[in-house]
Amino acid sequence: MSIDPAADLPFFYGSISRVKAEDYLKLGGMSDGLFLLRQCLRSLGGYVLSIVWNLEFHHYSIEKQLNGTYCLIGGKPHCGPAELCEFYSKDRDGLVCLLKKPCLRPSDTQIELGVFDSLKDNMLREYVKQTWNLEGEAMEQAIISQAPQLEKLIATTAHEKLPWYHGKIARHESERRLYCGAQPDGKFLVRDREESGTFALSMLYGKTVYHYQILQDKSGKYFMPEGTKFDTVWQLVEYLKMKPDGLMTILREACLNGKAVEKTPSLPATRRAGANGYTPPPRAVAGASTPVDTVPAERDILPMDCSGFNPYHNPNEVKKFNIQRSQLLMDEVELGSGNFGCVKKGVLKTQDSGQIDVAIKVLKSENEKLVKEEMMREAEIMYQLDNPFIVRILGLCNAENLMLVMEMASAGPLNKFLSANKDTVSVENIVNMMHQVSMGMKYLEGKNFVHRDLAARNVLLVNLQFAKISDFGLSKALGADNNYYKARTAGKWPLKWYAPECINFHKFSSKSDVWSFGVTMWEAFSYGGKPYKKMKGPEVIRFIDAGNRMDCPAACPERMYDLMKECWTYKHEERPDFNKVEESMRLYHYSVSGKAKPEGAAAAAEPVK
Ligand code: AMP
Repeated sequence: MSIDPAADLPFFYGSISRVKAEDYLKLGGMSDGLFLLRQCLRSLGGYVLSIVWNLEFHHYSIEKQLNGTYCLIGGKPHCGPAELCEFYSKDRDGLVCLLKKPCLRPSDTQIELGVFDSLKDNMLREYVKQTWNLEGEAMEQAIISQAPQLEKLIATTAHEKLPWYHGKIARHESERRLYCGAQPDGKFLVRDREESGTFALSMLYGKTVYHYQILQDKSGKYFMPEGTKFDTVWQLVEYLKMKPDGLMTILREACLNGKAVEKTPSLPATRRAGANGYTPPPRAVAGASTPVDTVPAERDILPMDCSGFNPYHNPNEVKKFNIQRSQLLMDEVELGSGNFGCVKKGVLKTQDSGQIDVAIKVLKSENEKLVKEEMMREAEIMYQLDNPFIVRILGLCNAENLMLVMEMASAGPLNKFLSANKDTVSVENIVNMMHQVSMGMKYLEGKNFVHRDLAARNVLLVNLQFAKISDFGLSKALGADNNYYKARTAGKWPLKWYAPECINFHKFSSKSDVWSFGVTMWEAFSYGGKPYKKMKGPEVIRFIDAGNRMDCPAACPERMYDLMKECWTYKHEERPDFNKVEESMRLYHYSVSGKAKPEGAAAAAEPVK
């Protein structure tokens, strides 16, 4: 699931031993400066750079710092392993020689997975399941979209969920628990030390309990005296299961804390605060009528933190085609309007899920049959879709007016939100949201639907971290053997978002949605800017036909502009599909999330023994 930042590098081998690395370098010819990169077992998240010089091997540790940067011990920080290697190919800065020639991984050799890779994925899943009560597809989607943030989160709190963690218990109580039942060597537990806020490891060996203090250095890394340092307690424990690192023996059997698996969603104990279990939100989301109120102050909000109804959940249990009028409370507040009528804020009363905030599209009563049919068609399309990044329909209510009841996305349309919050929304934030839009569109493409009106105005925000595609008024389901929809006549079309084949031949496909996605990206990265400035539709068509494309918005990263331009490939056959677009968005999202800019410099690097 999580992607190693070095996964793209052709000279990265994953978790291979020193001996194996040397074998590959021998096969590679042993020229001076021949190098490869491998995962480091001793420092998690770190790497080892193996280099040949003078027919000898040199191995350098690369550490991942807490701020997300990478550096050789004593060397300059770099924002990723690729950037680090590029730097040392131009500047020796203490290395035995420049990195001259990458020792490429043979085409039939996969990157070797490390023991922590799969462990981390399992922990992440368990955490999401327990904390937000998510399962199945909803869990998968949440994890794909939030992997970098979640990894950071579990890294610091995961031990609280593990069976060997006993919290704050006294030393004699830890002994009592370890002596209870069988007493094999290596039976262990971890506890908070009473006075100091640090941890202790208590372990049985030869029927005697030994206590070790888990030390922490200035940068917060955990270690046993003289031992290897780790970012988290659980990583240290996993390591000590493989190597004793100064202990009497390796850790073998967890002394269980006896806690049943939590059934209700909750955050780990140390993250709770206040009588109601939660601290107030770190900030209210501008434009949101129901600010997120369940987020601990010390971390960023995640989409799953939405109060009340969790939009990651599959709402099938509340989805009914006919909603009774008595189940709906309608607010006077108007969220928006269109030629069909208006969208109002409301509450849906359900039996199982309590009261849910909803948006209600109300058809104006004087509207004629045609508009009513259009709204029914939109409802029908929405009814067939079920994805966290697409606004879900909860049902229709036919009362004083025809009403379409939807999940609420209270922070409103993306373009308005961004232009009102230019100073507070970061580029990484926009990347995250646009990645979610690409996930929703990939789902739509997979279901053989075309949206036909993808634009920033039709991407609605639940909060700063959670975007959903809306407005299926123009959408079409394609037949099983059709990959495009042909419109008989041109309508009131959003030409600036349309691909050439839509305008010239009235042909709409997922590939033409990809073009619109490019324009939506442009709107997002220009913080709600208007595409093609003051140009009118026909001028835009001439502009595109002449081979021109919009310029890169000021704040837009180069890789995102490159993707936009790919989306604006003139011929739809050569344009990427959403599978490809989502992958590009995801890789970029993972590479920038939670990463600090490199700062400062340090002394020359030292080889490790
Ligand atoms: P539409 O005609 O579907 O584009 O809706 C018109 C406007 O109503 C949108 O631009 C939004 O401001 C608002 N709106 C529509 N659906 C929702 C929703 N599910 N949650 C919040 N606001 C919505």
